[in-house]
Amino acid sequence: MSVTAYIALGSNLDEPEQQLYSAVAALKNLPESRLLAISPFYRTDPVGPAGQPDYINAVAAIETSLTPIALLDALQAIEKGHGRVRTVRWGARVLDLDILLYGHEIIESERLTVPHRDMSWRNFVLIPLADIAPDITLPTGQSLKKLLQNIDRKGIERLSDSLVTEA
Ligand code: ATP
Ligand code: MG
Ligand code: MG
Repeated sequence: MSVTAYIALGSNLDEPEQQLYSAVAALKNLPESRLLAISPFYRTDPVGPAGQPDYINAVAAIETSLTPIALLDALQAIEKGHGRVRTVRWGARVLDLDILLYGHEIIESERLTVPHRDMSWRNFVLIPLADIAPDITLPTGQSLKKLLQNIDRKGIERLSDSLVTEA
């Protein structure tokens, strides 16, 4: 059985835009999956420790029959392949790939919280998500449109209008 999953992409080191293009290429090669859409890229102010470079963020939609944990393993392998080294929480990173949504499932396990625990208030997640899934409702019952009403529009800038959509 396959589901639609949404993945948040972020980078603020080593040519972040290139990191995201390369991550999109890697998402296209995920086993048992198909890339459905990728949002425009956004430049966003860093959150977390001060003094970091700006981030580039985007959201991808995939159709996948990987289990949630298998998907997390595959995403972490891609992060590792891009040279991500885990240091301080929310510190600068070459690539972050987070599972935002996995179908309508609610998952609370040691390695995985889905929907992503902070997605409801992150403008750099909700704004690109709305580009590719404007009418979505979270499994918690909250609509994306409603969540978007409450977020800060400052500190985020769209870099391109091109919406790469795969058939
Ligand atoms: P944040 O989760 O606040 O965006 P982060 O992405 O920087 O922070 P990471 O260092 O990438 O955090 O991941 C820390 C751990 O979060 C991972 O080892 C993973 O097991 C766990 N995790 C829990 N839920 C998710 C999820 N939905 N997507 C990705 N990782 C998750
Ligand atoms: Mg993250
Ligand atoms: Mg992460």
